[in-house]
Amino acid sequence: MRFSKSFIKTYKEVPKEAETISHQLMLRASMIRQLTRGVYTYLPLGLKVLKKIENIVREELNRIDAQEILMPVLQPADLWQESGRWFSYGAELMRLHDRNNRDFVLGPTHEEVIVDLFRNTVTSYKDLPLNIYQIQTKFRDERRPRFGLMRGREFIMKDAYSFHLTQECLDKEYNNVKEAYCRIFERCGLDFRAVDADTGSIGGSESHEFMVLASSGEDDILYSDKSDYAANVEKAVSVLDFVMDESTELEKELVATPDMKTIEEVSSFLNVDPSKTIKSVLLKEEQEDKSFVYYVAVIRGDLEINDVKVKNIFGAKIDLEMMTDKDLEELGFVGGYFSPLKDIPNLGKVKVVIDESVKYMKNFVGGANVEGHHYKNMNLSDIHFDLSGDIRKAQKGDKALDGGTLDIARGIEVGHIFKLGKKYSTAMNTKVLNDKGVAETVIMGCYGIGISRVAAAAIEQNFDDFGIIWPKSIAPYLVDLILLNTKDEVAREVSEKIYADMLANNIDVIYDDRNEKAGFKFKDADLIGIPLKIIVGKGAAEGLVEVKHRDGSYSGEIKIEDVISYIKEFEKN
Ligand code: ATP
Ligand code: MG
Repeated sequence: MRFSKSFIKTYKEVPKEAETISHQLMLRASMIRQLTRGVYTYLPLGLKVLKKIENIVREELNRIDAQEILMPVLQPADLWQESGRWFSYGAELMRLHDRNNRDFVLGPTHEEVIVDLFRNTVTSYKDLPLNIYQIQTKFRDERRPRFGLMRGREFIMKDAYSFHLTQECLDKEYNNVKEAYCRIFERCGLDFRAVDADTGSIGGSESHEFMVLASSGEDDILYSDKSDYAANVEKAVSVLDFVMDESTELEKELVATPDMKTIEEVSSFLNVDPSKTIKSVLLKEEQEDKSFVYYVAVIRGDLEINDVKVKNIFGAKIDLEMMTDKDLEELGFVGGYFSPLKDIPNLGKVKVVIDESVKYMKNFVGGANVEGHHYKNMNLSDIHFDLSGDIRKAQKGDKALDGGTLDIARGIEVGHIFKLGKKYSTAMNTKVLNDKGVAETVIMGCYGIGISRVAAAAIEQNFDDFGIIWPKSIAPYLVDLILLNTKDEVAREVSEKIYADMLANNIDVIYDDRNEKAGFKFKDADLIGIPLKIIVGKGAAEGLVEVKHRDGSYSGEIKIEDVISYIKEFEKN
């Protein structure tokens, strides 16, 4: 590509609306342009990067015999009603209807469509296992679209789905995909980790997220210093050595704690350690008929509740919300002063879970369900609960299961693999005949990669004050051939010849033949982040050109006749 003919328009100024470095640099380097919130046009440079990432993904998935198809974006609502997600997917689902008032969705993911395809085409165990993928635009009406391509409302995903009759077969394919993902992210030049992830209300099965380590990441990862244990904080487990408090149980005593609602306020006012208090979180889950199911989660005052663990322990379908003042009033619960005391009216209308930590406590402080009052010397026998378990958020510094210590890092989720089991095949009645001729429900896996998010994540890990430093494998161009001075006839002739040679050798080059100052061209090259500059200047008359690596690892002169072999070598290493 000749720069002079390209559709590239770079900017010096940092765009105000862009908070993260990848968003700023993608806008400045002419890779993307926003159309509306969370919706972007991919400009030539951005699209080239996406195509390179896609091709790496394709190569590695084809290698494990996954096959590419392309499913429709527009999906009939009937399928989503059948799977139950027309309701449970909630407000993120982009819904629309046609001229006959039939409901449709713009696909945020394709389980429903692939299951429908599968049940209409595959009938026998002989066709299994099967792994099918596509690379396509997805739509999600995100609550907070932000950070450019990182969290869009329209974005490009690779999604794959596998079908099996036995768990062993799924386990094997899951591992194949996991290994393929590691090769993909390595080839993309990313520093990443595969971490244990939450499997949501489906429960039981395994799931891993692929996290690119970067301070701008939206996920917290806890990892052990002793083994390769790493998990999303939503899922992470730590060990607390609980010791039973052996004190004698005292009679509970009402104490005034005016305007003191937080654990810190109450414990300092009553002069007790936060670990001698309990706190209750009041939650609710909306049902399909718009009614609510109410929940209470209770934990030792110095610990934090993990919302995802609470959701899972109750088997809730959708994310839980906080009860509102109106809910509290209707139930007769006193916000800020609540504990699930046995004698509270309406307690039968809520389900209560206590964290295991609470079971070891005696004579603790908890809300009295009376405005401005707590009880001292509350005991387990004073409270009602339906369930108990680990609902605790693991923290940096906690002991890990392997005996090591947990540390925390930020990650960007670029991929997610998941043993789905029979969730969709049961809901959508999808069976094949086994080797005995009996119809059996199929077992599924699903595997996603955020193609457009990978591009943003790569920048978060690779930049400097001057711009992007693309990993070679996904750079928009590998080489920037720069003609320093367009009036220098010798140099022009030489660079035209080198350019022709590069094209003949399939080298991915952009040729900066613009009638601009050298400094201007260098700035663009650095901003766009092209890994190798070949600079044709005065030295051309003596048969020499300059080379410069974008990552600063080398710069020097080489002979013109060595340019092609130099680039081939550069590309390999
Ligand atoms: P997140 O927790 O970040 O919302 P998710 O769990 O909803 O992600 P999946 O449904 O597993 O994501 O989708 C597969 C992949 O698609 C993710 O790993 C991520 O890389 C990408 N992805 C998901 N949502 C977006 C988005 N709004 N914009 C860009 N990429 C996305
Ligand atoms: Mg999401």
